[in-house]
Amino acid sequence: MNYELPKLPYAYSALEPMIDAATMELHHGKHHATYVAKLNEAIDKAPEWSGKPIEELLRNLDALPINIRTAVRNHGGGHHNHSLFWQMLRPSQEDNAPHGAVMERITGSFGSFDAFKEQFAKDALGVFGSGWCWLVRSAEGELKIITTPNQDSPLMQGLQPILGLDVWEHAYYLKHQNRRADYINGWWAIINWDFVESLTR
Ligand code: MN
Repeated sequence: MNYELPKLPYAYSALEPMIDAATMELHHGKHHATYVAKLNEAIDKAPEWSGKPIEELLRNLDALPINIRTAVRNHGGGHHNHSLFWQMLRPSQEDNAPHGAVMERITGSFGSFDAFKEQFAKDALGVFGSGWCWLVRSAEGELKIITTPNQDSPLMQGLQPILGLDVWEHAYYLKHQNRRADYINGWWAIINWDFVESLTR
């Protein structure tokens, strides 16, 4: 067993009402668990890659044997994206906003926190089908917003994810049905900016 499903740092109900407990239980206990199981199945076929940090695999997809490359892209990407995503969330806080270094970096790159929020929400809403919206840091240290399809990780493009939002329907459909904008709106209150800051440095 190479990779393991991480425990959530809070209860399934902790993100109510923005994200409901039933969605969290399915999302973590079924969707994420399946990514981990299928990633392990793939790595079993390439034992020379066993025990490597998931980030190393995702940064070097082209170096992987062709017979496991797609599985690592999809399930390894899914495992890493979700492992980050859970840590990027916390119970809702009034006036939840970044502070310190993250706030400075965001303001410097986007003009203001509100301008950043507007752009991020627009891009997240615009993801067609299944994917993610990210705030990333480039190798040159520049912050930018990108979207990735399916479970692709920014690491696959040499970018460091700092903040990510899962916009697959499985992340919000039970509670919000087709109203992705409501899910995005609520999400701002449950971002763990302390964790985001730790990735910004
Ligand atoms: Mn998901």
